[in-house]
Amino acid sequence: MPDPGTIDLPLAARVVDVVVENHRTKTFTLNMSLPGARPGQFVMVWLPGKDEKPISLMGADPVQLTVAAVGPFTGAMHSLRPGDRVWLRGPFGNGFSLEGNRVVLAGGGYGVAPLHFLARQVVARGVHVTAIVGARTRSDVLFEDRFRALGVETVIVTDDGSHGRRGLATDPLAEMLEDSSKRPDHVYACGPEPMLETVKSLCMKHGVPAQISWARVMRCAMGICGTCDRGGWLVCRDGPVERV
Ligand SMILES: Cc1cc2nc3c(=O)[nH]c(=O)nc-3n(C[C@H](O)[C@H](O)[C@H](O)COP(=O)(O)OP(=O)(O)OC[C@H]3O[C@@H](n4cnc5c(N)ncnc54)[C@H](O)[C@@H]3O)c2cc1C
Repeated sequence: MPDPGTIDLPLAARVVDVVVENHRTKTFTLNMSLPGARPGQFVMVWLPGKDEKPISLMGADPVQLTVAAVGPFTGAMHSLRPGDRVWLRGPFGNGFSLEGNRVVLAGGGYGVAPLHFLARQVVARGVHVTAIVGARTRSDVLFEDRFRALGVETVIVTDDGSHGRRGLATDPLAEMLEDSSKRPDHVYACGPEPMLETVKSLCMKHGVPAQISWARVMRCAMGICGTCDRGGWLVCRDGPVERV
């Protein structure tokens, strides 16, 4: 069941600001706050007549959502302007716990957004942070400036080498895990599933604890419908963050 701080029924909020992050991604700031919400938690966003979909919190006070336009719902979100209304319920899921003194955040695609929310909290604790931002190509890179503005060591990796180093986000992570002078004591990851599977096996191989945030198609977000089942583990109720 949702905890008492969770909004069960959709509440209306207004868009107050829209920032274009890259050619397919926008960040929406709303006139709503969820002060107790943690990085890694998500909200269900409802656009009446369109759909209701899970979106991670990029910020909680005020609520900020970073949305990649990949289909009908996210495309409709991209047409929102300041003053328009959206409806939210949540926050849902377990979220990340703040651990480690030398941490790596590995993100791909929109998965970078909740990691930036996490980075802001981790940096405030004086922890050494390296952010790995993975993308297909230069125009897909997300939040490079936002991470650098936090003073975080930022490693950009693109599949085609058009920006940063060429390869996968897991390549620099593997190198850091191999090198005892650079090895993190905690890894956080959010992104496409194949990337997360690699992060999981690398961290298990090197005995480094990790928190991995999985994204699955979901409907209810409350552990009832079973749409987000991963072999008996419900992403909405038991996750989205898995501890490894
Ligand atoms: C916990 C959680 C947090 C999320 N946070 C964000 C976020 O912060 N920003 C954001 O832009 N999106 C996020 N998503 C993904 C977003 O909810 C989906 O992409 C949503 O389905 C988009 O709806 P659509 O109608 O635009 O596209 P759809 O038509 O539903 O999907 C377009 C394409 O993406 C694929 N797809 C959809 N959802 C997923 C998924 N969860 N995993 C893998 N492939 C998928 C579909 O199979 C299809 O090929 C999150 C999903 C989850 C479960």
